[in-house]
Amino acid sequence: MAKRPIIARTIPSLRRALEPYRQAGQRIALVPTMGALHRGHLALVALAQRRARRVVVSIFVNPTQFAPHEDFGSYPRRFATDIAALAEVKADLVWAPSAEVMYPEGFATRIAPEGAALAGLEDKFRPHFFGGVATVVAKLFTQVAPDLALFGQKDYQQLRVVTQMAKDLDLPLKVVGMPTVREKDGLALSSRNLYLSTAERGVAPTLHRVLKACAMRINKGEPIARVMADGRAEITAASFALDYLEARHALTLAPVASRQDGPIRLLVAAKIGKTRLIDNLAV
Ligand code: AMP
Repeated sequence: MAKRPIIARTIPSLRRALEPYRQAGQRIALVPTMGALHRGHLALVALAQRRARRVVVSIFVNPTQFAPHEDFGSYPRRFATDIAALAEVKADLVWAPSAEVMYPEGFATRIAPEGAALAGLEDKFRPHFFGGVATVVAKLFTQVAPDLALFGQKDYQQLRVVTQMAKDLDLPLKVVGMPTVREKDGLALSSRNLYLSTAERGVAPTLHRVLKACAMRINKGEPIARVMADGRAEITAASFALDYLEARHALTLAPVASRQDGPIRLLVAAKIGKTRLIDNLAV
């Protein structure tokens, strides 16, 4: 049986577990997650292992990034399975604080990211989201004090927000983004894919297919506005409730009118049944 990673649940036990790594001068990488781990998370761990001697995976379903009507209560929690998967890939340490450890009574500070966090994408539909993410990620960075932290491009706006936050707050670590891991049919792996019915799972890859088709047409020089309009129509016709499909500047996430405006990223969010899926692609 694979050796179980150390599991820390309190700040003192986390510090105790990290101490020998620091004593030995070992590079530490942090992979923040909300658990229900899939191959996308494990690929982040593998990349972390190539870049650092020690890999810490945090598992924390962060209540402050969910709105009351969202899926915090039903979000999949599979701690034992997650630990087994992390043992298999030889992660060193799991940081799994409770909500009380993360937000003790009297907690009163919140980070309010701007810039990419106000791009009118996820923030428009989940206004509380990036404040919650930035605050918990800043805490995770302070708690673990890693040399680098790895995030998936799957959550592209989040990656931009966290990268900017680390820079703005002079946090002494490097934020590294990793390409999205997909199913064979193109669907981006996500813990929320567990919610999909068989029929919904069948149409879910539409999002990636439309992103690919749109990227190709923009590359051929078709006007972005027309390509986006067609893409939106196709997603809606596949019975999604579309939140947005947008072409944005890949770094600032500002709207772009043409390919000359800089590197472009296509970003989409849509609901199929009760499940909200997001995806994105470079042009
Ligand atoms: P989550 O547990 O959903 O908060 O995700 C934890 C980390 O895994 C985030 O940095 C995500 O961007 C990343 N991630 C989630 N799904 C994928 C995927 N399909 N490919 C690559 N990274 C992913």
